[in-house]
Amino acid sequence: MRVRHVDLHTLSLRPVITKPIQGGIKDVMTGSTKYIFVTGGVTSSLGKGIVSASLAKLLQARGFTVTIQKLDPYINIDPGTLNPYEHGECYVTEDGAETDLDLGHYERFLDTPTSQANNVTTGRIYQNVINKERRGEYLGKTVQVIPHITDEIKRNIQALSRKGIYDFVITEVGGTVGDIESLPYIEAIRQLKWEKGHDALSIHLTLLPYLSTSGELKTKPTQHSVKELLSLGVQPDILVCRTEHPMTRGMKDKIALFCNVDQRAVIESADASTIYDVPLLMQQEQLDQVVLEKLGIANFPEADLTRWRDFLYRFKNPKTTVQIGLVGKYVELHDAYKSIKEALDHAGAENETKVEIHWIHSEKINAKNVAKLLGGLGGILVAPGFGHRGIEGKLEAIRFARENKVPFFGICLGMQCAVIEFARNVLGHAGANSTEMDADTKWPVIDMMEEQKTKTDKGGTMRLGAYPCKLTEGSLSAAAYGKTAIKERHRHRYEFNNAYAEEFRKAGMLAAGVNPQTKLVEVVELKDHPWFVGVQYHPEYKSTVARPHPLFKRFIEVAVKHQAAPAKAEKAKA
Ligand code: GLN
Repeated sequence: MRVRHVDLHTLSLRPVITKPIQGGIKDVMTGSTKYIFVTGGVTSSLGKGIVSASLAKLLQARGFTVTIQKLDPYINIDPGTLNPYEHGECYVTEDGAETDLDLGHYERFLDTPTSQANNVTTGRIYQNVINKERRGEYLGKTVQVIPHITDEIKRNIQALSRKGIYDFVITEVGGTVGDIESLPYIEAIRQLKWEKGHDALSIHLTLLPYLSTSGELKTKPTQHSVKELLSLGVQPDILVCRTEHPMTRGMKDKIALFCNVDQRAVIESADASTIYDVPLLMQQEQLDQVVLEKLGIANFPEADLTRWRDFLYRFKNPKTTVQIGLVGKYVELHDAYKSIKEALDHAGAENETKVEIHWIHSEKINAKNVAKLLGGLGGILVAPGFGHRGIEGKLEAIRFARENKVPFFGICLGMQCAVIEFARNVLGHAGANSTEMDADTKWPVIDMMEEQKTKTDKGGTMRLGAYPCKLTEGSLSAAAYGKTAIKERHRHRYEFNNAYAEEFRKAGMLAAGVNPQTKLVEVVELKDHPWFVGVQYHPEYKSTVARPHPLFKRFIEVAVKHQAAPAKAEKAKA
């Protein structure tokens, strides 16, 4: 393998080599994994996850293999037990890890699966260390933050590269530099940078506040933030500056001078109209190129973003618009339904349609206002959730979609509510419910899964991760997927009660997808309805820019048709 190290102090202002090289990537890599650390300063919510995912996308588009990891400085073992109001959506991976929503961005951008190893919290780090201590693995030593906690952090960062498949491991540290709780992570980065030398670099993301009174962007908070990092022993190699207004060349010079970074390594990150623009903005600013040069990788191939640009074009140039009602109880916080929102956008681009989401609070829906709130929509999506709050509103929304033949998509609790609504209003079992909402219901059409009954811990004990499902030939879902054998991700404790399967089938609600081993019902569909699909799993987690999810794609397609020519309600026909 040929290695060419670039002298960090003589970085050329010209692009180095932008043509694909003969012989492929391995010729330009040293063979060892490169580590990129991403920290944030000044304030939280600057979009570290999106910048990390964008850099990863650019490196991937040059033919490198990349994975991204999120280190979260909170004490929870994982975000599975967190209320969505605290931390937004909990994202579930193929291997059943309950993780931070940034992992959703990583998968949507890269179209490669993540796993438990891609999200580590302080709680998990301490749990591992304490378990080792109990097993006597520290051989009588005093167990301390340095070196034991920092070693465990370093072990987790390097665990991803041990698979031997990644050219780059990008590690994003949650929180803001200066937080007490992120200190061990910064210390682990300091040590790893020292150990890895040319194979590691760090990127610091900061904010340039704009003072409207003086009409200026200010660099001082960035300087202070870098000072804070320096006081912890970490010299950032690249600064990404988030800004609402264009930076001037002079500003880049100033930041470079005060923060000991190359002028070209000061990257402007302007506000974008969509997160999917960020890889292109970062490419314009040559973030990936500077990264490669600083890691001493020469002769790298050019990024091929044809498919990405194609998606963006369709996303930004819709031919039509569709109104989708998203019914849930956390709608004030859109992050609680992040993957659903993104999956709708992917499906919209695929259909050259702008998806306008109406965020409808399930607690506000009742029999009197349902027609007013949901009338005129192209489709209705009832969201996942836990507990009884807002359930009656969800049932009203489903009844409206069923009776008025509005395309309906129910996800997890949304599917379970579709079953309850059918039991109550079609089968005539008043009071039918899920035992989650009413343990003593006479009609437990949704009941706790057998394996769940013995579980007492709340964290990580649901049915989680990917399971196979067999779809019925000729069903709406099989038509959408274009196949009958699928695998989808789950996160639930309750299931369709198969004791009622026959009664439902006879009345027109079919089990269109079943787990081939356990016979758990994974998909329900209505016979006499243009498109009514409820899924026990979470299809939204698997929708990516490169591969929009087939069910979302079809849902938007039928919603566009319905919006243009609403199906006649049975009642209206009668
Ligand atoms: N609360 C339901 C269950 O545990 C649905 C879960 C969900 O929507 N993710 O089965």
